[in-house]
Amino acid sequence: MLRIIFLGTGGSLPTRNRNPSAVMVNREGELILFDCGEGTQQQMMRAKTGMMNLSSIFVSHFHADHFLGIPGLIQTMSFMGRKEPLLIYGPEGTIEFTELFKALGYFNLKYEVQGIQLKPGDVVEREEYVIRALKTEHSISSLGYALIENPRPGRFNRERAIELGIPPGPLFAKLQKGNMVEVNGKLVKSEDVMGTLRPGRTIVYSGDTRPCEPILEASRDADVLIHDGSFADEMADWAEESKHSTAGEVAALAKEAEVRTLILTHISSRYTDDAEPLLTDAKKVFEKVIIAEDLMEIEVPYRSK
Ligand SMILES: [Zn+2]
Ligand SMILES: [Zn+2]
Repeated sequence: MLRIIFLGTGGSLPTRNRNPSAVMVNREGELILFDCGEGTQQQMMRAKTGMMNLSSIFVSHFHADHFLGIPGLIQTMSFMGRKEPLLIYGPEGTIEFTELFKALGYFNLKYEVQGIQLKPGDVVEREEYVIRALKTEHSISSLGYALIENPRPGRFNRERAIELGIPPGPLFAKLQKGNMVEVNGKLVKSEDVMGTLRPGRTIVYSGDTRPCEPILEASRDADVLIHDGSFADEMADWAEESKHSTAGEVAALAKEAEVRTLILTHISSRYTDDAEPLLTDAKKVFEKVIIAEDLMEIEVPYRSK
């Protein structure tokens, strides 16, 4: 399972119907947060995501609308008896800010919370995927992230295995795991019965940024690009000055990168009741675009080929 849950989709300020930035990924039950704006823990409750399977928070930058939810979330999980460590990744300042979150107010932190500073190009390696830190262009030190799953094994050719004299059962599983097996004194290699590797899925999260090369490169052929789409195109000057993006600019990047789905988030409070102008501007350039809404969930399927 790979599901994206939009917990906060507002830009800079919370509004009546949009919380500040927080995007959760549920990958096979492991929860990962990209940004954690104020109120994220309550949004997690509303979305019924649970908290205890949260392994890591990747912060794009330390503007208040992207991290103020962290201290509250840390304390709630401590109160609820969490024991597993929590890792907080982010750009310059991450270690210092994490220490501040841990020291804020009187409470007993009952589990380890560790801040880890990343620089562009750094790769966090997990068993089945990696998360790559990307250089972005915002008004302060900032990062975007690409979650890239490892390739999956190819398809198992059952008929071929039987032809080669392998009886259905445990030997099938061995071959599927990449091992060599012996039947009737004959060796059969995994690659004799397995197809070529199939790509895993890729999700790119931009954080706050101008459209930029590292996001474009990481997004090539990505399954989902979640990008700062703060403004409609008529606000292009202000987007440039404030180091955000317009819907049309991001749509052009998504088109060039040939992403499967573009999701615009960090929607400015001026569009909180009607994000139609953003959708109109984006669709002029790129059809496969969605405007994120709070509590919207998207399943990212494997590709058929
Ligand atoms: Zn922001
Ligand atoms: Zn910002």
